[in-house]
Amino acid sequence: MSGLGKGITAASTGRLLANAGFDVTAVKVDPYLNVDAGTMNPYEHGEVYVLKDGGEVDLDLGNYERFLGIDMTSDHNVTTGKTYQSVIEAERAGDYLGKTVQIIPHVTDDIKRRIREAAEGTDFCIVEIGGTVGDIESMPFLEALRQFASEEDDEDLLFMHVTLVPYSMNGEQKTKPTQHSVKELRSIGLQPDILVGRSENNLDPETKTKIARFCDVPTEAVFSNPDVPDIYHVPLMVEEEGLDEYVMERLGIADQALPKEDRSQRWRELVTRDRTGTVKIALVGKYALEDAYMSIHEALKHAGIERKTDVEVLWVDSDEMHDEHRDRLREADGIVVPGGFGSRGTDGKIDAVRYARENDVPFLGLCLGFQMAVIEHARNVLGLEDANSAELDEETPHPVIDILPEQHEIDDMGGTMRLGAHETQIESGTLAENIYQSDSCTERHRHRYEVNPEYIDQLESEGLRFSGTAGRRMEILEHEDHPFFFGTQFHPEFRSRPDRASPPFVGFLEAVIDRHEAPPSDERTDSDYDNTEDEVTI
Ligand code: GLN
Repeated sequence: MSGLGKGITAASTGRLLANAGFDVTAVKVDPYLNVDAGTMNPYEHGEVYVLKDGGEVDLDLGNYERFLGIDMTSDHNVTTGKTYQSVIEAERAGDYLGKTVQIIPHVTDDIKRRIREAAEGTDFCIVEIGGTVGDIESMPFLEALRQFASEEDDEDLLFMHVTLVPYSMNGEQKTKPTQHSVKELRSIGLQPDILVGRSENNLDPETKTKIARFCDVPTEAVFSNPDVPDIYHVPLMVEEEGLDEYVMERLGIADQALPKEDRSQRWRELVTRDRTGTVKIALVGKYALEDAYMSIHEALKHAGIERKTDVEVLWVDSDEMHDEHRDRLREADGIVVPGGFGSRGTDGKIDAVRYARENDVPFLGLCLGFQMAVIEHARNVLGLEDANSAELDEETPHPVIDILPEQHEIDDMGGTMRLGAHETQIESGTLAENIYQSDSCTERHRHRYEVNPEYIDQLESEGLRFSGTAGRRMEILEHEDHPFFFGTQFHPEFRSRPDRASPPFVGFLEAVIDRHEAPPSDERTDSDYDNTEDEVTI
């Protein structure tokens, strides 16, 4: 069942195998017909995660990159759209001349080829099949895995099935959903080797015995996966249950693993670190859904690990900048304005930037958030009335953000933005240089618009500075007269890892902690702020 946490269970198992000295990679299979996740609405599917090669993929790949500490490529996200596209292209090219092209064997062969290629050169490949057993869309993938089982040696392949174990009204753990989904799997020729029960608490011994008996696995092959306050604790829990040891034994490689005392304890050390305090950060976006901004939440958490501070994220809806949303913005020690598309909620974002700039509140603007900071500066500091992005208002008299020149000829929406890792040159003596401790950085991108080169000189005339550039593209901005005002055209959140927090997030969090510890005494009052001429809504 989707949303159950099978990705986190799999990634956690992978983390432990990596701690034991193995090379681990992963493939996420998404049975939808979209070729990639790039055109999907974050409100339905969560954020679109961007890989270094520019692949726009399911957010689960972000979890694999963060848990396994690896960089993946778009080949690690297999979709129905991708397989059908290549099978149909091959058919048109005449590759199957004379044959009837069918799901079995042509589509299933393509699926197996993709998985084998992604696994090449590693010790382990975790293949996660999204969706629910029984979905029409996932059938070709499950069939491909069934074929795998007969083509590969027994000790090279394990099937792990994650199921929901709910509680009855009288507090009893129910195994029926597990029994039924295993029955469903067996009807298509798949017998799970390992069963993991997602439940509020650990599985009771009787529950494990019952699942084992009905699903035809040994009791030692049934594992618990209870709720935990933080997903980063799942590897610790999986280790406690011994799932990693069981996997290694079943695959006959336990003797190749590092002895327990030599395995890396880094993950445990990072996620159980003592924290000295809590800061509050306002995230000003338009999707009231944590998954829509997952990598930003994670990057804030990573900076928190590095600075030994808990981060509480206050949700501020940029479309509803009044009442409790306004109060939360005022309560926050720092403000993040994330990426996004389209005009809904952008006025609220611009108001939030202004509030941060005028009140010396640490500010981090990411992609659209960077563009909002440029527009705010143009309107409220330079007095360029109705300055805007051409994306949001085609008729604006001052398109300070304009379409990338190479985008003019592009009509297709899928995979056509400026995507993936690109290098930025950093000017010396700037906040950006201080943050990155380098004269360049390479971060991931996903945008169609940029700072209009015609406005650069004017924009830089009153305290705003573009301190990172890639040729004529403006990549980083900062404000000279502000404790921390930093915006990036790229998305640093996608490279952030628990043991390698993203530099802009760490810099931001340091400023946030400083402000939290010594709040400015001359903060503007509500009435001062509400009396500004243009009546901002904050
Ligand atoms: N919509 C903006 C653009 O296309 C920003 C994109 C983003 O925030 N990822 O340039």
